[in-house]
Amino acid sequence: MRTQLVVQKFGGSSVANPERIKRVAQRVVDTKRKQTHVVVVVSALGDTTDELIELASQISQEPPERELDMLMATGEQVSVALLAMAIHELGEDAVSFTGAQVGILTDSTHTKAKIVDISAHHRIEQELLKGRIVIVAGFQGVNLNQDITTLGRGGSDLTAVALAKALKADVCEIFTDVEGIYTADPRIVPQARKLSAISYDEMLEMASLGAQVMQARSIFVAKRFDIPMHVRSSFSLREGTMIQKTAKSMEDIVVSGVTLQRDEAKVTIRDVPDRPGMAAEIFKELAAKGINVDMIVQNVSREGSTDVSFTVVKSDLPATLRVSRSVAHRIGAGEVTTDEEVAKLSIVGIGMRSHSGVAAKMFEAMAHERVNIEMISTSEIKISCVIRKIHAERAVRAVHRAFGLNHAPMRRKHT
Ligand code: ASP
Ligand code: MG
Repeated sequence: MRTQLVVQKFGGSSVANPERIKRVAQRVVDTKRKQTHVVVVVSALGDTTDELIELASQISQEPPERELDMLMATGEQVSVALLAMAIHELGEDAVSFTGAQVGILTDSTHTKAKIVDISAHHRIEQELLKGRIVIVAGFQGVNLNQDITTLGRGGSDLTAVALAKALKADVCEIFTDVEGIYTADPRIVPQARKLSAISYDEMLEMASLGAQVMQARSIFVAKRFDIPMHVRSSFSLREGTMIQKTAKSMEDIVVSGVTLQRDEAKVTIRDVPDRPGMAAEIFKELAAKGINVDMIVQNVSREGSTDVSFTVVKSDLPATLRVSRSVAHRIGAGEVTTDEEVAKLSIVGIGMRSHSGVAAKMFEAMAHERVNIEMISTSEIKISCVIRKIHAERAVRAVHRAFGLNHAPMRRKHT
């Protein structure tokens, strides 16, 4: 059997200070000593990236994105060097690289570049064959002009997945400050359980619904190339959650998780003329401004007009209002109102494809708590409801319980 090759990614919180860097070094060295080739990807220390952005904002309100990338990429360069030193202290050989050095080639979309190729993976392979641990700066690449680019916030995950693909790694381990993927946020649902496995599709939904464990783009790439991922804690040796193609054991689980999003606002355009083309008019204009609309509801029409409601992320609200008011005026609609006191509760699970009554069960759980549902959207593996924010946490607990996701109290002490 060939030597195992693992890519291990450590996020900012895992390398927030020298003590933690030493701990990561120990963990990497332990893996290496199990006859494994290890490629490590690290993020910037703690909140470094936020601090660098803040620093830039004190110089300029709109810094050139090329320069912002130049600045942000320094964060990860600090981490790789320090981790290499820490590994040397433990008696192993390690070598650190920037994204450019290992040929992480991207397009030129500064601050959210896409990886096109990893051209220098032979260099990594050579170093591994010499018995070295290879450390690569996450989140950064280089475009065809040799300008430094970054891959969007949380982009170290993407670096790790892309390297796992290029090097044909056996597994890509994502080390973070939680134990894995949970059936719900444990801060809201203390009985939430850690999932041992989850499918790429479910994980994609959970990530886009704000379960901030992994960057959504990286999961998309992992799915496309079928790269097995293991999300686990950098502070414990326990197994975390495997992200993979559908596993047999997952088949009888209808719902894998309940998520809550509180960063969306609801916008309503009143008295929209009930004629063909009105919805197109509104949403075309919003799309042209780069505004992503999430849920849409059109009420039954009365006397030739109807109310159209939709949700957007709060940061897009000012632009959305501007656009909506001008379109409303043009098409002869009424006033535009906003509501920020909403939350979106979703259930995710590939099992619901083959189970009927899932939506009914979800709505019933909320009805039982006297929570009113204002908007609904469904897909093959997800049902989302917009509700009042003040009821959100109670509703999450009720839905989580209704789908049998709560930890069995008897078994709790054994896990
Ligand atoms: N340091 C970058 C960020 O904070 C990349 C990462 O953490 O993955 O977004
Ligand atoms: Mg970070």
